[in-house]
Amino acid sequence: MGRQVLVTGGTGYIGSHTVVELQSKGFEVIIIDDLSNSSAEVVDQIEKITGIRPLFEQFNLLDAKRLNTFFQKYNHIEAIIHFAAFKAVGESVNKPLAYYQNNLISLMYILECMSRYKISNLVFSSSCTVYGQPDQLPVTEQTPKKEAESPYGNTKAISEEILNDVVKATPEITAIALRYFNPIGAHPSSLIGELPQGVPNNLVPFITQTAAGIRPQLSIFGDDYQTPDGSCIRDYINVVDLAKAHVVAINRLLDNKTKSRYEFFNIGTGKGASVLEVVKTFEKATGVKVNYTIVARRPGDIEQIYADTTNANKILGWKAEVSLHDTLLSAWNWEKKIRNIN
Ligand code: UDP
Repeated sequence: MGRQVLVTGGTGYIGSHTVVELQSKGFEVIIIDDLSNSSAEVVDQIEKITGIRPLFEQFNLLDAKRLNTFFQKYNHIEAIIHFAAFKAVGESVNKPLAYYQNNLISLMYILECMSRYKISNLVFSSSCTVYGQPDQLPVTEQTPKKEAESPYGNTKAISEEILNDVVKATPEITAIALRYFNPIGAHPSSLIGELPQGVPNNLVPFITQTAAGIRPQLSIFGDDYQTPDGSCIRDYINVVDLAKAHVVAINRLLDNKTKSRYEFFNIGTGKGASVLEVVKTFEKATGVKVNYTIVARRPGDIEQIYADTTNANKILGWKAEVSLHDTLLSAWNWEKKIRNIN
């Protein structure tokens, strides 16, 4: 039997890809997910890809009683990857309390249970949103954090502070936070991918839905930024590459290789791409035209951000491998699969 890892939010977009990578490296995975933003079919899809069905328990992490019963039942868990969280930036502005409650209390409960049930290792999903619009590019882990642009972003910044404080006070716990840049794409099998509810907020699902004819056109938010083509720049990271970073982080924790008990790493490609470049690369990769129009800037958007990945490369020994071209093609193949397009 492999070493047991608990993945909260394991049926979600990044969670499901991470479960696949963990299983392919021999880990035994247990998922907790309340299915508030995913479906139970993802468990079947994971089994189709890997041939192994992950254990799955459906409940919300704020149910403390259920969480305790869970840890009493599964008493061989050696590490936790905590993905479960609300993630819609715009929604968080309208529902700040829901975001603070869900994202912060669930982390605190997980940390409490780690002490109570003697689980030492945690990987936490953080975000480049903690940097805001950085003064210098690319951003390193030492780039000062800025005030968050949204309650969602603030939950990530506060979560990192909670982790730092708890780790300091709890010698048994070691944690790694991974600061994701913009995760995109889908598994090459097209069996799992991103499933946004309603109108997508993120660029790539909006592009694939426009290409599929579900949306009449993509609105590009601003072409008057101080960037070469005027559109915003982000660091788009392939979701399978990102999932692999979690496996590397888990191995680092289990092998006691961490240099301090709380580490954090940028997880991106190290290269920025503009919105217009993404659209053009998508068209080239897929042969499908994307109908788009330039509209006003989206409030809260930062002009540009991309990662310095030196630490992830040298210390973690992880590197992004899949090109933007291939990643966008995987996103399109996934969209075609779920919409039954040939
Ligand atoms: N974007 C866009 N049209 C859309 C969605 C996003 O032009 O319908 C742009 C957005 O302004 C940003 C980039 O695409 O520059 C990435 O946005 P996304 O919401 O995917 O991620 P963010 O970096 O904001 O977290």
